[in-house]
Amino acid sequence: MMQDKIITRFPPSPTGYLHIGGARTGLFNWLLSRQKGGKFILRIEDTDKERSTEKATKAILDSMEWLGLDWDEGPYFQSRRYDIYNEFIERLIFSGQAYHCHCSPEDLEKKRNAARTNNLKPKYDGTCRDLGLGPAPGSVVRLKTPQTGLTQFEDKVKGTITFDNQELDDLVLRRSDGSPTYHLAVVADDISLGINYIIRGDDHVNNTPRQILIYRALNEAVPRYAHVPMILGPDKTRLSKRHGAMSVLAYRDMGYLPDAVLNSLARLGWSYGDQERFTRKELIERFSLENVGKSAGVFDVDKLLDVNAWHIRESSNEFLSGELIPFLNRLGFTDLDMIKVVKAVATLKPRSRTLVEMAEGASFFFKENIAFEKEADERYLKYDSLDLLEKLRENLDKQPDFNQKNLEDFFTGFLSENQIKLKEIAQPLRVALTGKTVSPGIFEIMDVLGKNTVLERIDKAIAHINKK
Ligand code: GLU
Repeated sequence: MMQDKIITRFPPSPTGYLHIGGARTGLFNWLLSRQKGGKFILRIEDTDKERSTEKATKAILDSMEWLGLDWDEGPYFQSRRYDIYNEFIERLIFSGQAYHCHCSPEDLEKKRNAARTNNLKPKYDGTCRDLGLGPAPGSVVRLKTPQTGLTQFEDKVKGTITFDNQELDDLVLRRSDGSPTYHLAVVADDISLGINYIIRGDDHVNNTPRQILIYRALNEAVPRYAHVPMILGPDKTRLSKRHGAMSVLAYRDMGYLPDAVLNSLARLGWSYGDQERFTRKELIERFSLENVGKSAGVFDVDKLLDVNAWHIRESSNEFLSGELIPFLNRLGFTDLDMIKVVKAVATLKPRSRTLVEMAEGASFFFKENIAFEKEADERYLKYDSLDLLEKLRENLDKQPDFNQKNLEDFFTGFLSENQIKLKEIAQPLRVALTGKTVSPGIFEIMDVLGKNTVLERIDKAIAHINKK
């Protein structure tokens, strides 16, 4: 039998930014669809008018774009699909699977209170179920839920999950103000968009039997489900702001690469042997729901830092330079020479865990005037280095080309002529060029800075020593 093309979806509610947990769910759906050559659909569940905002919708779309979780269809907005929901409701009423209920909210409240007093579950007592009532002002539409039997499904992560239908209410499908309820809208959308695989957080497990009953009442194929466990912080409590930033875009602003964030998100609940670092391509190839564990994933920012450092090392200098530009701009460096940025990135790649660190590390390349760190100044810009620095400056001036190879050859000659070891000149020179005692390799730096800037900075250091 030919397998249906897999169609997954990500349906966030735009009530706030896209957080780590939401993005993880989006990622799993995206990975599955990309791996299987399926489709991934984005839907914005904005029926809660009070809490949904355009700002949140934009933040979600920006986050998805930044993460590179591209969608094949959508975004669909639930608030614009009421006609579709009403068609589904009418279909259920017409087939006798749903009914108009005229019970007033006050009556219902009384009945619920009475049930509670008698220690019974406060569910709808079915007063209007078989009355064949028509619509009326203030009435609602309810699903005729089976009163006996079981509703069962095979969860890809959790195994068989069973609910007793007796526990389930005659669910409201359309409220008295004419608006569809959450469950009805979700099922109507998932059917009309052809969704056949639903991966979502396990806080939705209790919704699933209710939604399955709507599928059955409509005589539609029930999708496959995978409910993924929640996410914890390193202290094993539910992930929250206490553990660090929750918003995906905050990680962008802290200088993480999208692929590193995806890598870490994927590892929240999913594993592949003991591999920790994955490229985007590897994630697509290796992801499987079979390897999503039943226990909660732990989000650890230290691990993310390590993963980010790896992704930085694996990225091309050109790509990183593009990513680095906004961070350099933030430090006040604009109108940048891209060739210089690419060269600077090459020197900083092995030593930066985030783009923020990289931009800070790169600032000495772009500053007009570098400041000498106090300790570096005291230790290396001393009178006894003066001679050597002056000699070096004079000889460097005669060098036509400042590429690394030439500089290496030049220094070999310079050291032997002067009977010194590299470190005797390298440290004063490093401080002269960077203001610091720690930096990328001295030849690399000189190559990036270029002859004019190198000579200018040595001159400034000499003048500075002379003033001491
Ligand atoms: N809109 C729901 C949420 O943000 C998702 C519903 C679903 O996946 O079925 O939690």
